[in-house]
Amino acid sequence: MRHIGSTLLIASIAIAATPFTERDTIRGFTAESSKTQLEWEAKFKAIPDPSRMREAMRLLSARPHHVGSPYDKQNAEWIRDQFKSYGWDARIEEFDVLFPTPKERVLELTAPTNYTANLDETPIAVDPTSNQKDEQLPAYNAYSADGDVTGPLVFVNQGVPADYDELERRGISVKGAIVIAKYGGSWRGIKPKVAAEHGAIGCIIYSDPGNDGYAIGDVFPNGPMRPAQGVQRGSVQDMPTYPGDPATPGIGATKNARRTPLDKIPTLTKIPVLPISYGNAQPLLAALKGPAVPSSWRGGLPITYRFGPGPAIVHLKVKSNWDTRTLYDVIAKIPGTTEPDQWIIRGNHHDAWVNGAEDPISGLIAELEEARAIGQLLKQGWKPKRTIVYAAWDGEEPGLLGSTEWVETHAEELEKKAVIYINSDTNGRGMLGVSGSHTLENFVNGVARDIDDPEAKVSVWKRSQAARIGFGSADERKDARTREDLRIGALGSGSDYSSFLQHLGIAALNVGYGGEDDGGIYHSIYDDFYWFTHFSDTSFVYGRALAQTVGVAVMRLANAELLPFTFSNLAETARTYTTELQRLRDSRYDAITETNRAIDEGVYVAVNDPRDPRLAPPRKTQPPQFNFAPLLNALDSLSSAAKRYDRAAANLSTQGAKLKSVNQRLVQAERAMTSDDGLKGRPWYRHLIYAPGFYTGYGVKTMPAVRESIEQGKWENVDAEIARVAEALTREATLVSQLVGELGAK
Ligand SMILES: [Zn+2]
Repeated sequence: MRHIGSTLLIASIAIAATPFTERDTIRGFTAESSKTQLEWEAKFKAIPDPSRMREAMRLLSARPHHVGSPYDKQNAEWIRDQFKSYGWDARIEEFDVLFPTPKERVLELTAPTNYTANLDETPIAVDPTSNQKDEQLPAYNAYSADGDVTGPLVFVNQGVPADYDELERRGISVKGAIVIAKYGGSWRGIKPKVAAEHGAIGCIIYSDPGNDGYAIGDVFPNGPMRPAQGVQRGSVQDMPTYPGDPATPGIGATKNARRTPLDKIPTLTKIPVLPISYGNAQPLLAALKGPAVPSSWRGGLPITYRFGPGPAIVHLKVKSNWDTRTLYDVIAKIPGTTEPDQWIIRGNHHDAWVNGAEDPISGLIAELEEARAIGQLLKQGWKPKRTIVYAAWDGEEPGLLGSTEWVETHAEELEKKAVIYINSDTNGRGMLGVSGSHTLENFVNGVARDIDDPEAKVSVWKRSQAARIGFGSADERKDARTREDLRIGALGSGSDYSSFLQHLGIAALNVGYGGEDDGGIYHSIYDDFYWFTHFSDTSFVYGRALAQTVGVAVMRLANAELLPFTFSNLAETARTYTTELQRLRDSRYDAITETNRAIDEGVYVAVNDPRDPRLAPPRKTQPPQFNFAPLLNALDSLSSAAKRYDRAAANLSTQGAKLKSVNQRLVQAERAMTSDDGLKGRPWYRHLIYAPGFYTGYGVKTMPAVRESIEQGKWENVDAEIARVAEALTREATLVSQLVGELGAK
C-alpha cells in the first residue's frame, strides 16, 4: 500500500534563523562528534549499490508473494539470511491472522442485455511473470463480506459522502441497489462502507482510464499505464476503526491469543464488494439510463456516464475462504553499545498482492542495502550507541497486519524503548517526499541537505525547495523561500507506520522518492520486474538515494548525543491546524447560512429544471462559536518552551547537562500527545494530533476529533475535543519546559 497524493506536495521549507556556518555541526552532536559522524556517513553513503538492488528486486519479485503463499515464506527466509550475512542478529517472528482469499466471484449484467464479466487479468507476452496464473491471487477485495445479490445498478462517482448528497438532490436512492464507484477520492475501503450506510446491497469498484489508464498515457506494455484488463486489488477492512488482524484488535495475533468469532468482527464490510477493470466496467456503465452525470463525475471511457438506477440489473456474488494464515515478519537487530534500551526502528513490508516489484520491493531493496552498508561499517569499527532494529513486515497489503501484530505484541517494551519508527514502501524517480511527526521536521531537513539528487546534481533538499517554488501555490512558494525547513506532511494511514505513531505514540517518518513517472499497475499482476525496469527507476539510482537518506537518518539517531527532536516546528504546525479549524467553522457557518437563506427565498424551486429535476438541499443547523481559547493558550506555552529548548539544544554542551535523562524523556515526547481513551468510537487510535480520516481512509485528519466533529456537524462534541487536544499540547509544553532546565540552560 501507499498513501495517496503527490509526493511533491509533502515537502516545503526552512527558517533563516540558523546561520549556515553552523551547518558543520549536526543537530544533536557537538562540533567534535559531528566531525567523526560525518566521516562515517561519507563511508556509508558510498556503499549502497544499484546493481545489487536490481538483482534483489529480480529475485524477490520473481513469483507472486502474498500472505500465505509459498514464495512469501521463501522471501522472508531469504531476507532473514541476508541480514545474517551482513552481520545482524536476525529472526522470523510468526503471527496467525485471518486472511480471506477468493473462492467465488461472479459479476453479470442480467438486464437489459446479458453480459458476464470475465474478471480476468490477461498475461502479456513480453512480460515474463504476468503468466504465473497458478500462483496469482485473482483480483478481489480482501475482507469483503460474502454475499449473493441482484439489484439495479447506480453510478456513485467515487462513492464518498458528498457524492451521496448529490444523488439525494437528484432524488436517486441506492437502497436495494448495487453501486459502481470509480477508484480515487478516498481509500477504497470507504466506498463499500458509505454505500452500505446508504442502504446499498453490493459495491463494485473499477479503475477508470481517466485516472490511470489511456487518458493519461500509453498503456502497458507500450507504456506504464493501466491496460483495459488491469485490476486494482486491495483490502477493504475498516482500517479507520482499527488496522491489523481483524480477529485480534489491540492484542498480538500470537498462537493462543483470544480471537473474535468471524460473525462478531466489526471491520469486515457489511456488503459484498469486488474490484474490476475498466474493460469489464464499460458494458455495465453503458447500460445505465437516467440523466447524464455532472462533468466532475465523468471519467475517460467513450460513453455517456449516467446515474441509473437501472435499467441495468446486476448480479454480484462474492465468497471467500476465511482461512487463518501465518505471517513471517523478519526482525533484525544490532544492539546499542551504551544505550541498548533506546531503539531506532526502520521497516518496509515484503508481502505483495502479486509480484509487487514497485509495491513493496522498490522500498525493501533500499532497506537491504542500508543493512548491508551498516554491516560493513560495523566491521570497520563503527558502533551505534543505540539499538538498531530493522524489520521486513509481512501482511501489510491486507491491512498492516505484520507491523500491527508486532507492535501490539511488544507494546509494553516499545512504549519504553522505541525512539522512532522510519518507514518506506514504494520508491521511484523524483523528489524526496517525507511525512511524519513534526518533532522530526527539522531533523529530516538536516538529513535531506546532505544527500545528493542523482539527476539534478544538487542536494535532494535543494531540489524539493526548487519544486515548491517552481510548482507550488503562492503560500508554498513563500514558505519555500522564507522558512528554514521544508514542511513535511502529516501521516494518515496506508503503510506500516500507523500502529507505531497512532496506537503507541512513537515518533514516525515515512520516506520515499517519486513524482516523475506515472503508472497504472498498482496492485495488479503487471506490477513486476518487467514494468519497473522499463518504466520506473530503471537505473535504481533513486533506490540508492533512498538507502542513503534513511541510512544517514538511522546513523544520526543511533549516535546523537542529544536526540534530535525539536518542538518549534511542531508548535508552528499545530498553530496552522488550529487556524484551519477556526476557518473551517467559519466557512461551515457561512455555507449553511447561505443555503438556508436560499431555501427560504425559494431559490431551489425557482431554478429547478423540470426535465432534469434537483431537490433543494436539506436545511442544516449553523455551528455555534467554539471555544478555541484552551488550545490557543496551550500553543502559546508550547511555542515559548520550544524556543527556549532550541536555544539550549543549539549550544549543546556535554558538560553539566543531564543528557542521559533528557534523552530518556525525549523518547516520551510523542507519547505525551496521545490519550489512553483514544478517539471517540475508535479507541485504537490514541494520537490526538494525527489520524486517518474516518471517511477518507488513508488521508490524514489533523487534530482529528475536533476536525471530524466540525466536518460531520456534531457541534455538541467540538468544545470537549478542543479541550482534549489542548491538554495533550499542554503536557508536551510542560515536558519541553522541564527539559530546558535539565539541559543546563536558563
Ligand atoms: Zn506497499
